Amino acid sequence: MQTNFSLAALADPALQASEKILRTCVHCGFCTATCPTYLELGDELDSPRGRIYLIKKMFEEGEAATKEVVTHIDRCLSCLSCMTTCPSGVDYMHLVDHARAHIEATYRRPWHQRAMRALLANLLPYPRRFRLALLGAMLARPFAALIGRLPVLGKSMGAMLALAPRTVPARSAFEGPGVFSPLGARKARVALLSGCAQSVLAPNINAATIRVLNRLGVEIVVPEDEGCCGALVHHMGREAQSHAQAKHMIDVWSREIARAEAEGARLEAIIITASGCGTTIKDYAHMFRGDPLYAEKAARISALAKDITEYLADKPLEAARPTGQVVAYHSACSMQHGQKITEAPKMVLRKLGFIVKDVPEGHICCGSAGTYNMLQPEISGRLRARKTKNITRLKPELIATGNLGCMTQIALGLEEKGTPVPVRHTIELVDWALGGN
Ligand code: SF4
Ligand code: SF4
Repeated sequence: MQTNFSLAALADPALQASEKILRTCVHCGFCTATCPTYLELGDELDSPRGRIYLIKKMFEEGEAATKEVVTHIDRCLSCLSCMTTCPSGVDYMHLVDHARAHIEATYRRPWHQRAMRALLANLLPYPRRFRLALLGAMLARPFAALIGRLPVLGKSMGAMLALAPRTVPARSAFEGPGVFSPLGARKARVALLSGCAQSVLAPNINAATIRVLNRLGVEIVVPEDEGCCGALVHHMGREAQSHAQAKHMIDVWSREIARAEAEGARLEAIIITASGCGTTIKDYAHMFRGDPLYAEKAARISALAKDITEYLADKPLEAARPTGQVVAYHSACSMQHGQKITEAPKMVLRKLGFIVKDVPEGHICCGSAGTYNMLQPEISGRLRARKTKNITRLKPELIATGNLGCMTQIALGLEEKGTPVPVRHTIELVDWALGGN
């Protein structure tokens, strides 16, 4: 694609990087066939190619984002399905990240959008606040349908309440910070990202991870002062907040690396159990590539980051319980498109005796996408229904996935359809098969 930027504009490294990405797009349109919003809405401007065109125009003109650009970029799920499809290797992820940051810096959203986005950005990444908010949501949940009919904020608030759990799980005995050591000899040491929203909504995911790794002789460190990895606000274009959160985590993990080295040990990996977080942490190296203080540390952290199933892929696993259940495996977009992890989760489950089935149209997003299901409830609802229909076609006994957002979204879809099937994190099934809770 030909671009038209002035030399002065290209002095900005971020713009220079985006211009380079824009030039790789050849307009072929292959990506439209796998873009969930194009499939649902049928509008070229809601396709990757259309969005690339809008972003190009916005950056070339060097002006504030317009309502049209914001509408179509906001509808993008950042699912990255287009990147898997694109034969020219267009780095849409970093292009849309840049566009979102530009929107955030130059566009004044209507008050209700600002309020909703500020609420999400100041609640979800902070477990204590989030837990309190969930207690409030529990009380308001029975009125979700009524609240959903309120003008302006109703739809988003209704969607948020529908996704809230009926009860807030009790804190887990495995909640960090702390060191969780295996009973026998220590074969390796890893750090675990316990996560922000996940640690409140589904503490059993971390507990299962710790039990499984301990059984394998792996010591787990949940570092003190852990915070959010920055993924949630990153996708909202809140660059300063996401970079601050990312830098904090880089410092936290760098201290753990140094501590291990001081003890003559080695931190073998940073284990991630939410693929949305994994994609962002693996991108720290790119995020801070121009930062003299953080570039090296960030690259080290990105290199250590591993999804739990990636880490388990070459480990000996033997079921201690009768398995053989039919499991529909839903591959989160951040897992398959963001991190290109496609086989490891299924392989791990199969090794333990589960019958794993791929979901038809598995490359299409379930509509969760971080905060998308609260910010774009209508499109998200359509994608949820589409995903649920595809999953139920398999008649599974269980559904497994590696991202809490997808778990919540799919469980709600099944509930709406009246065919609830247990939705579990992959590591919970591994833990159960190995004899855990
Ligand atoms: S990231 Fe997903 S929703 Fe956005 S343009 Fe690409 S395929 Fe479409
Ligand atoms: S498939 Fe790739 S090269 Fe073709 S239009 Fe889409 S982004 Fe551009």
